[in-house]
Amino acid sequence: MSDKPRDPVNDRPATRAVHAGERVDPATGAINTPVYRSSTFRFDSTDDLLAGQRGERPGFYTRHGHPNFAAVEGKFAALHGAEDAVVFASGMAAFAAIVLGNLRTGDRVVALADLYGGTRVLLEEMRGRFGIPTTYVALHDDAALRAALVGAKLLVAESPTNPTLRVADVPALGRAAKSAGALFAFDNTFATPVHLRPLGLGVDVVYESATKALGGHSDLLAGLVAGSKAALVPVRSARKLYGAIPDPESAWLLERGMKTLVARVERQSASSLAVARHLEAHPGVRRVFHPMLASHPDHALARRLMPTGSGGMVTFACRGGLGAARRLADTVRLIANAPSLGGVESVLSLPLYTSHSYLTPVERAAIDVTDDLVRLSVGLEDVADLCADLDRALAT
Ligand code: PLP
Repeated sequence: MSDKPRDPVNDRPATRAVHAGERVDPATGAINTPVYRSSTFRFDSTDDLLAGQRGERPGFYTRHGHPNFAAVEGKFAALHGAEDAVVFASGMAAFAAIVLGNLRTGDRVVALADLYGGTRVLLEEMRGRFGIPTTYVALHDDAALRAALVGAKLLVAESPTNPTLRVADVPALGRAAKSAGALFAFDNTFATPVHLRPLGLGVDVVYESATKALGGHSDLLAGLVAGSKAALVPVRSARKLYGAIPDPESAWLLERGMKTLVARVERQSASSLAVARHLEAHPGVRRVFHPMLASHPDHALARRLMPTGSGGMVTFACRGGLGAARRLADTVRLIANAPSLGGVESVLSLPLYTSHSYLTPVERAAIDVTDDLVRLSVGLEDVADLCADLDRALAT
């Protein structure tokens, strides 16, 4: 019995999410990939072992490759239309491997200023410890981007951004990176491959925190990177060297979560837009950020790049400042006050205290991360119940 034959060219995303990468157990025919709780794999001959070392078999020594990793890597690659993918212990580990695998002291990074706070902290660590500086460029400042990219090795962007859901002009960034000869790494955590497949738009390596929508159940940490086989050579080497691998059990949970990715994210996208519209009409809300609202500054671009939706996130500013935002977070009952996002349960957090707590007030102000912001990740609950919870909390 071999792996299920799949049609990676003609299968549509929902089909890929369910079937791509799956491994039929040769001994039993079990319909799901078994959890291979093994740190090493035996080979019939040295030739066979060398083939394993070249990655021609999914299992070798687990830090190098493992069947449960291969299953999620196959799924992520298929969802992004990529040649290959590599799984990591977390989204941060995935990004760190892109940086560590490609750059050396003296190389320079260009990053859009609107980034997940942790990504910025990692880039600052690279500057301070390893002499790899980053130049930050404002979203849509094409002239500044092109100037900064001269001589740069890596361009880093994220879209929609955490937490204000700004949308980057990915094809324009791709053209600028290409003409400067820089590698373009793109964080697609919020859009997921359901809404955006950026490898066709000039991105060299796309990465996602699989902790979020890919896993989808708030029960694991993982990260995934996809791209061409050539682009992933340094990334895979960095995983092998630094060892940031997930546990086989987490990889299996991720594979299980990814099977329902399309159904979950489509629903969450529709629900987040409904919640955004509800909040926009609420007197207790100063401003709502959702790429599919006409009031969003990048609405036209968002519609062009992500015609099917933007994911389950909606961010809003409370009238009444930080005090009002904290009261809301302390009063919601159905929605949990918790960091992270992308799960089946709705959660909210104040970026001031969570995703962007490491930035200075000046850095936060430059990217519109005001103290009154609330970032909401819409789960699979009924929208009416979510709105009722928010209304009750806003009324306090
Ligand atoms: N990228 C984005 C957009 C995120 O929101 C996060 C985490 O919140 C990460 C990357 C890091 O992922 P992880 O927590 O899995 O390391």
